[in-house]
Amino acid sequence: MTVLYGIDIGGTSVKTAFIGDDGAILHRAEFPTRPETGIEDFLDRLHATYVQEANKAGLSLDDVVGVGVGVPAFFDAVRGMVVEAVNLGWKMVPLPQLIEARFHRPVAVENDANLAALGECWIGAGRGKSHLLCVTVGTGIGGGIVLDGEIYRGKNGMAGEIGHLTVQRHGGMLCNCGRTGCLETVASATAIIRNARQRLSHANGDVQIHGASDVFRLAEQGVAEAREVVAEAADWLGYGLALAATALNPDCIVIGGGVSKAQELFLRPVREAFERYSLERIHEAQVIPAELGNDAGVVGAARLIQQRVARRR
Ligand SMILES: [Zn+2]
Repeated sequence: MTVLYGIDIGGTSVKTAFIGDDGAILHRAEFPTRPETGIEDFLDRLHATYVQEANKAGLSLDDVVGVGVGVPAFFDAVRGMVVEAVNLGWKMVPLPQLIEARFHRPVAVENDANLAALGECWIGAGRGKSHLLCVTVGTGIGGGIVLDGEIYRGKNGMAGEIGHLTVQRHGGMLCNCGRTGCLETVASATAIIRNARQRLSHANGDVQIHGASDVFRLAEQGVAEAREVVAEAADWLGYGLALAATALNPDCIVIGGGVSKAQELFLRPVREAFERYSLERIHEAQVIPAELGNDAGVVGAARLIQQRVARRR
């Protein structure tokens, strides 16, 4: 038996899983990241979890062929460095080397959005497909591209950052990236909440909007302002997808993140906009909800190391 180990490092928790060669999750675990205790302590806890959880699951570490790791950061694959992980306080951390030194197994590290795309392509919404664009719509908009079954990183890992497509050339809102008019300023959960608060406070002062789910609920109940806000965000997202898909011609577009939980209420108008703004053969690509949820990172990490190990043989 061969087993893959997937690690998904987040700002608050680390998810890990032993995963079979077919993508089946054999055993999961999760522990708090606590980046403030320092990288050495973090690596000790990471390795201790690995040993302890293999025991719990009755798995032999001899069967583990490699370790895949997802980080919420820009990863320089050429130098093998996590350049900067703001949530973790890491700068220029040679993570593959550090993990290899403890685990004594081949290690592959990748940005988490890219791994989510790879995971969905392997056993999730895009299984059986070769070319996939995966877009996560939450606080911001992240993305990953899989071409011919493998992550497409581009020259320096920036491929798939569709949240920062400039969709408003003039007069757009300021984005976290420092520029204005990015897709995520008009189509993310943050944009939906902001717009709903503005419109609904004019219409009805006592409506409380805590999250995008509140806006979707109001839209479902037929509140006109909420419906407008959802329709606008969906139109922008469909437009962004059309731009990206025209360059990539993917088999399918997988939408994940908090906003995708609204399912058809949001995805139907996104699909309509996508069709409106793209060529017919381009919009043959299906726009479908992600399937792996919180497992996408560990599954994608396992797939990445599986591909790397296979190539070395
Ligand atoms: Zn931006």
